[in-house]
Amino acid sequence: MITMNEHYLKLQASYLFSDIAKRVNAYQADHPDQTIIRLGIGDVTRALPEACISAFHRAVDEMADDATFRGYGPELGYDFLQEAIVSGDFQPRGVTLRPDEVFVSDGAKCDSGNFQELFAPDTRVAVPDPVYPVYVDTNVMAGRTAAWRDGRYEGLVYLESTADNQYIPALPQEAVDLIYLCFPNNPTGSMITADQLRPWVDYAREHNALILYDAAYVEFIRDNSLPQSIYEIDGAKEVAVEFRSLSKTAGFTGTRCAYTIVPRECQVYDSQGNAHALHDLWDRRQSTKFNSVSYPVQRAAEAAFSPEGRKQIRELSTYYLGNAALIRAAMTSLGYACVGGEHSPYVWIKTNTDSWEFFDRLLQKAGVVCTPGAGFGKCGEGYVRLSAFNSRENVETALQRVSDALGRA
Ligand code: PLP
Repeated sequence: MITMNEHYLKLQASYLFSDIAKRVNAYQADHPDQTIIRLGIGDVTRALPEACISAFHRAVDEMADDATFRGYGPELGYDFLQEAIVSGDFQPRGVTLRPDEVFVSDGAKCDSGNFQELFAPDTRVAVPDPVYPVYVDTNVMAGRTAAWRDGRYEGLVYLESTADNQYIPALPQEAVDLIYLCFPNNPTGSMITADQLRPWVDYAREHNALILYDAAYVEFIRDNSLPQSIYEIDGAKEVAVEFRSLSKTAGFTGTRCAYTIVPRECQVYDSQGNAHALHDLWDRRQSTKFNSVSYPVQRAAEAAFSPEGRKQIRELSTYYLGNAALIRAAMTSLGYACVGGEHSPYVWIKTNTDSWEFFDRLLQKAGVVCTPGAGFGKCGEGYVRLSAFNSRENVETALQRVSDALGRA
């Protein structure tokens, strides 16, 4: 008899965005003439930057000729991309990395979901609340939690991010081994300063813990004094892994290319307390289960780090930040307290009501899709997230409809 991994039975019914899609589809079926504007899931809407598209085309042509065709590439990514990432993303911030500390992948979702495989079943895990659901669900699947009770999984340590702490959680009271952090934050849009990040690195060093730092939205940071990488904090290389992605940065959500930094100094311990290089474990895992990203996609990604690519990416993120500013201004003028949208494409809105109820109200009265905060955790109840990923025209129309529907303009 094939028996299942029963930890899956603990999972909540479905992934948040599938629940949203079901409700939106049902509404659309009943109202076929209504145009629905989606400001829910954080999916980009604008085309890939010209520099990336040209490189993509050139690489596709190489694949069409026996002389330049490429088969399997290196499992961890081509040198040209690893080098472009180190010199494009990290050197300018004073962070020295070796190209082989960069693991190219097809998504920060899979990397941040898969990374927990490297750790023992009894690893004590701390996750922010509200949180990108992937960190939680993958630890549930791995059996690191007990049952779901009262809106939370028993056995996880929740790091509450609320208005009271300006959405920057306090250090855990109890000892934990693995900490997930995400800045600029999804879903709250909040951003951490170097002074606020330093105690996390110190905590991890003190407890031989590890931080999984998700910087998928780094491109949206507009204040140069804010940390763009956790490695800007002294000592972080020994205790932190960083996830990055071209999805939101360069419009690669459908093209798929991301990268994870695992510094050689970073250590993990066996049950006898002996240290092992985390880099070797991830290398082993990836080269066993993964065959990297297609050659044309890696060439397109490389172009994102060229001077033209950089410029075009900045133009894209500035466009989305313009949308975020409009969303924040409109919701504020309707009387809703908002955060985010300054260094992030997300605006986090206090609804003063149940978040799914607010979701239904926006959908039914305005034909606008948001994401209910409750889907990101208990602390997300009473909030919704609006995403700036859409055309300016759609955002303006959506805000006009929201303003008419909520009737407080
Ligand atoms: N990390 C965070 C915090 C995200 O919000 C997302 C996507 O929404 C991802 C990772 C996934 O990125 P990718 O498209 O590279 O899988």
